[in-house]
Amino acid sequence: MTRPIDGMAVMPETQAPWPARDGLRITAVRSIVTAPEEVPLVVVRVDTSDPGLYGLGCATFTQRFHAVAAAVDRHVGPMLIGRHPADIEDIARMVHLSSYWRGGPVLNSALSGVDQALWDIAGKRAGMPVYELLGGRVRAAADTYLHAGGATVEETIENAAAILADGYRNVRLQTGAPGLGNYGAPGSPGGYPASPYPDGWDVQRYLRETPKLFERARAELGEEPGLMHDVHSRLTVKQAVALARALEPYRLFFLEDPIPPELYDRLPEVREAAPMPIAAGEQVASVADAARLVKDGGVDLLRLHVSAVGGLTPARKLVALCELTGVGTAWHAPADVSPIGAAANVALDVTSPAFQIQEGHVYPEAVHEVFPGTISPVNGYLYPSDRPGWGIDIDEAAAVRHPPVTHLHERWAARVRRPDGGIEAP
Ligand code: MG
Repeated sequence: MTRPIDGMAVMPETQAPWPARDGLRITAVRSIVTAPEEVPLVVVRVDTSDPGLYGLGCATFTQRFHAVAAAVDRHVGPMLIGRHPADIEDIARMVHLSSYWRGGPVLNSALSGVDQALWDIAGKRAGMPVYELLGGRVRAAADTYLHAGGATVEETIENAAAILADGYRNVRLQTGAPGLGNYGAPGSPGGYPASPYPDGWDVQRYLRETPKLFERARAELGEEPGLMHDVHSRLTVKQAVALARALEPYRLFFLEDPIPPELYDRLPEVREAAPMPIAAGEQVASVADAARLVKDGGVDLLRLHVSAVGGLTPARKLVALCELTGVGTAWHAPADVSPIGAAANVALDVTSPAFQIQEGHVYPEAVHEVFPGTISPVNGYLYPSDRPGWGIDIDEAAAVRHPPVTHLHERWAARVRRPDGGIEAP
């Protein structure tokens, strides 16, 4: 037997076998896709029987946003109709287990959208920001770093100096190269005219030139700034160790994603040999895989794309694991995390002693229009909103003015190849 709630049918099988404390119920769940910064963002809205009480969650997997939206609207959402929105843990487990083949970035992102929306509702019901529901702050704000990229070493350092002059204390450096360029920095097309793929990326050149960038950076930016570098999964284990050792004199804050996720069983070898902290995990799409990175000694700093592991509920368990094992956190949060996901990151950052640093992103005005309440860094620090829930809303009329572009990522990623024509990690 099913009974309708606001036009959506209740599935009796997905209801809790315990009485709810009050009559509040979930009445609708739907995805919203928008791209105010051209990067497709997926947000989930969960409505309740209390008029005006709704929650928003980040379900962004920008490369496969159609699949996430379908998972939310067709599979996950209908299971929640009629449930009490306070049953967050049970709903998260039910959604996770009900697909039998569980996890993966598509289903976890869909789960994250509803999970974070339920935390938003919980905060709004309590009249508290989510960070208070998590136990309250252990720090005032999350220190951040921004990205400095450039076609040349000079340009990269110039951009880094501008970021530091804006009040930031930490910066990630990426410099271009002949061909397609290094990750996060442009290349000069046709760098290898005698090769089968003239726009290719040369790993040996990258290994030679990257230490020179950091030598110049320390000389010109000084001893103080925290300096990061993202390899973006392009190296073998031995190449990663060689790069880490070559970068030792420049005291990096962390070296990120030195090897591809397919080789994470060997990340402890890299970490053992690297003089600086190793940060990895943003490509992990399973809470169990993320836990293995921590337990097996693969990371000094766990990075999570929180929506890819299923949202705040699983992420806060990983945070607790990090706290208990002496591993730090440094969450992923550039343009392919919605402002709601960014707020969830900050809620975790300010409530955990494991927090080390937060990847920052300065959202353009169009994003602020679509997401009123979007947090902006102040002197490089991200402060959580004190409003109930995440403190961030969505203007759906503004959101529809920014339709998503399909295959935005593929147009770039599919072109990343070596000079011999072999495909490379983007
Ligand atoms: Mg990265």
